[in-house]
Amino acid sequence: VPDVPDVARVVIIGAGFGGLAAAKELDGAPVQVTIVDRHNYHTFQPLLYQVATAGLNAADVAYAVRGIFHKQRNVSFRQADVTGVDWSTNTLVLDDGTLPFDHLVVAAGPTAAYFGIDGADEHGFPLYVLTDAIALRNHVLERFEEADADPSLIDDGALCFVVVGGGPTGVEVAGALSELFAMVLRKDFRMLDVSKARIVLVEMADVLLQPFSSPSQRHARERLTDMGVEVRTGEAVVRVTPTRVELKSGEELASHTLVWAAGVRANPLADAFGVATSRAGRIVVGPDLRIEDHDNAFAIGDIAAITGPDGELLPMLAPVAIQSGKHAAREIVRPHRNPFRYRDKGTMATIGRRAAVAELPLHIRLSGTPAWMAWLGLHLVTLAGFRNRLSVFLNWAWNYLTWDRGPRLIIKPDQPSPPRE
Ligand SMILES: Cc1cc2nc3c(=O)[nH]c(=O)nc-3n(C[C@H](O)[C@H](O)[C@H](O)COP(=O)(O)OP(=O)(O)OC[C@H]3O[C@@H](n4cnc5c(N)ncnc54)[C@H](O)[C@@H]3O)c2cc1C
Repeated sequence: VPDVPDVARVVIIGAGFGGLAAAKELDGAPVQVTIVDRHNYHTFQPLLYQVATAGLNAADVAYAVRGIFHKQRNVSFRQADVTGVDWSTNTLVLDDGTLPFDHLVVAAGPTAAYFGIDGADEHGFPLYVLTDAIALRNHVLERFEEADADPSLIDDGALCFVVVGGGPTGVEVAGALSELFAMVLRKDFRMLDVSKARIVLVEMADVLLQPFSSPSQRHARERLTDMGVEVRTGEAVVRVTPTRVELKSGEELASHTLVWAAGVRANPLADAFGVATSRAGRIVVGPDLRIEDHDNAFAIGDIAAITGPDGELLPMLAPVAIQSGKHAAREIVRPHRNPFRYRDKGTMATIGRRAAVAELPLHIRLSGTPAWMAWLGLHLVTLAGFRNRLSVFLNWAWNYLTWDRGPRLIIKPDQPSPPRE
């Protein structure tokens, strides 16, 4: 008996902001939705840097996908890596099988772009997935343990942390590292001169937070400088080794850590699908978000090259992913070929304790404590799951009131024990 479904099968690749929004929008629709993701959880990327800097637990910023859809009966989950597609049979190719679809939503997000910089891929620490954040936290804490055991390593750069990229992620990481060192590690490592730790923020443009207004850019720079971060604008990284970072100006920084917050491109799945791609490898979509030449397939969020009203590609931001996910879902249920219209809700970046910048619609610009409060509130309400919200709130309250951080743990598999005699 042929396997003919009685309702249309919608397959969504990716349980990120876009994929989840599309699946939720299909609640109650006469379709069977399957979300495929290589992780069994959704990651709240905007707070990854806080996991990396020991402000939050890993589980605070991730949520099991199956748990999100307990009450939505037309959604199921498949943990797998998508590796390709056979357009002639409308079948996805997975690392462990295949998955047929009637409608496809590609929401596989971005990946780091290293622009061919020598050693950046191998030695840099990106920040896209949960394990990146844990790897960076382990690495930073291990550098302090190492320097505590052998302070001569400080001169070799063990406590020099280079952050590349002066966008929101780079600014947030640099600010949070500075607070971690000054507030917490100074007390943890009493025998170590923690004031010798350096944070160098390198940005190719002449300003930080490029898409923000000049006052916000200046505010971010001043606050970071006050916090002891060395801001190098108009500078670029050209080569990285495990212990050195070479800059375009010729300067060589003795540093054992390079945080890569500089470049982003679409997930390589965009190429594997053999569809037209645009700048940064993003999938070309029509005004209704359909993929060129594939009427039953949509691309949304970071992986899609969605043109905004000014003719520029929309930025890789969570609200773009959420709104485009909802739009694709509506087009699946009622294929009206309506154009997608993005409603800009503004952008924010936090720098540290009571320091942030926020640029909202109607030219509302906030900085300092009001922006920080707005940032905290927005992130709390947009986190998935009440337990996560409560845990994040408690962690933030604890960190704020005690000037302490909880989860500064080095979590790695132990080396195998030597065989017993
Ligand atoms: C560190 C960081 C901080 C950020 N801060 C902000 C912020 O403050 N505000 C804001 O608006 N935006 C922020 N962003 C951007 C925002 O997180 C993204 O725009 C948003 O996550 C894009 O959603 P998406 O659904 O397109 O992709 P993602 O959320 O990246 O989800 C993609 C999903 O696809 C899965 N996947 C990928 N490839 C495969 C495959 N081959 N097979 C199976 N599954 C796959 C991944 O596991 C992932 O779950 C930040 C991003 C980062 C990295």
